[in-house]
Amino acid sequence: MKKSAARHADTLLTHLGRDPASHYGTVNTPVFHASTILFDSVEAFQDAGRRKMEKGQSSYGRAGTPTTFAFEETVAALEGGYGAVALSSGLQAITVTLMAFATAGSHVLMPDSVYFPARRICNDLLQRLGVETTYYDPTIGGEIAGLIRDNTALIYLEAPGSLTFEMQDVPAIVAAAKARGVPTAIDNTWATPLFFRPLEHGVDVVVHAATKYIVGHSDAMLGVVVSGEALYERLRQTSQFLGCAAAPDDVYLGLRGLRTLAVRLERHQANALKLTEWLGQRPEVDRILYPALPSDPGHALWKRDFDGACGLFGLTLKPCKREAVLALIDGLQLYGIGASWGGYESLILLTDPDAMRSATRWNPAGPTLRIHAGLEHPDDLIADLEAGFARLNEINRGQSVRAG
Ligand SMILES: *Cc1c(COP(=O)(O)O)cnc(C)c1O
Repeated sequence: MKKSAARHADTLLTHLGRDPASHYGTVNTPVFHASTILFDSVEAFQDAGRRKMEKGQSSYGRAGTPTTFAFEETVAALEGGYGAVALSSGLQAITVTLMAFATAGSHVLMPDSVYFPARRICNDLLQRLGVETTYYDPTIGGEIAGLIRDNTALIYLEAPGSLTFEMQDVPAIVAAAKARGVPTAIDNTWATPLFFRPLEHGVDVVVHAATKYIVGHSDAMLGVVVSGEALYERLRQTSQFLGCAAAPDDVYLGLRGLRTLAVRLERHQANALKLTEWLGQRPEVDRILYPALPSDPGHALWKRDFDGACGLFGLTLKPCKREAVLALIDGLQLYGIGASWGGYESLILLTDPDAMRSATRWNPAGPTLRIHAGLEHPDDLIADLEAGFARLNEINRGQSVRAG
């Protein structure tokens, strides 16, 4: 199935998760701070306890409040799912997903380009519980069939890959999984539900680090998982058994971030396209890692399945001295150096993908960088990088180093 057809996500973003009539006419669903929730009778309390694994039900703050349910309802609708479970971080959304499927003696398949902390869950926590992980080449496509075992409990995907941005052939992997009755889950943080809806392609569970574009302002940690009806209770149960609870103020910030997600992403995408086109012409740049560019090896898959690209991309430089690339990065005025992305501000990181792999190699001739194009004016972002390349070239040529 292709693209969004008649859905208008920006309208959904404006109207879902709101019910002014139920709270004094205020436009936004308020923040409900709660541990104890009071009931009229023993019967009512026991009934709520029985139904607490259902969507939008709670008998205690940990299982959620109307703020949580408004956020969950909105994300579920955007993804075309039955329900969502809000969690306290994107990593917790990954943990809950893995724990919902993995059983002792089972096996999971993870892309070699996966978000690195997910690898630690597999190599430490899951391994201690007797679950084996096989890392696969993210570009494997339908050939993943050869890696599926009788005890494979989950095939996990992430497209494009963290740091290296390989696209995955989601429909081909899903077809191979379905042929063996294996569930699939995908980290959809990069695309957001506006640019890719995995459930429409047969994926069973969608994971988001809502910390990134959904919150969108670098001021809260939040995660969410979405699924169809068949798996919803299992995900909600796993989160409840593990004691997960998303904080009310952070859920509120997630809901507020959603209201402007479409307009923010439009600009992030436009800025990233301008930056990547400019960077692609630079003699210092070896390769741009951004599936929205026609030159990217994943471009055909991206064009077939996705409706857009966010502001996060990678690049590799031609071989250069380490001090030269550090001078480029450290001297930038507009790009922060730090983890996470999806806020309104630009970021840059020097990355080391090869150190995080086991099934494939990442061996470009020069250093690998990751850039998040924020909402600044693109000309200013380009000018800042241009000055950075001047610093890099000065050191690379072995000429005088900058004055303090
Ligand atoms: C940041 C990130 C996560 C983890 O989210 P947190 O909210 O930081 O825990 C998961 N997946 C991807 C792709 C990410 O970039």
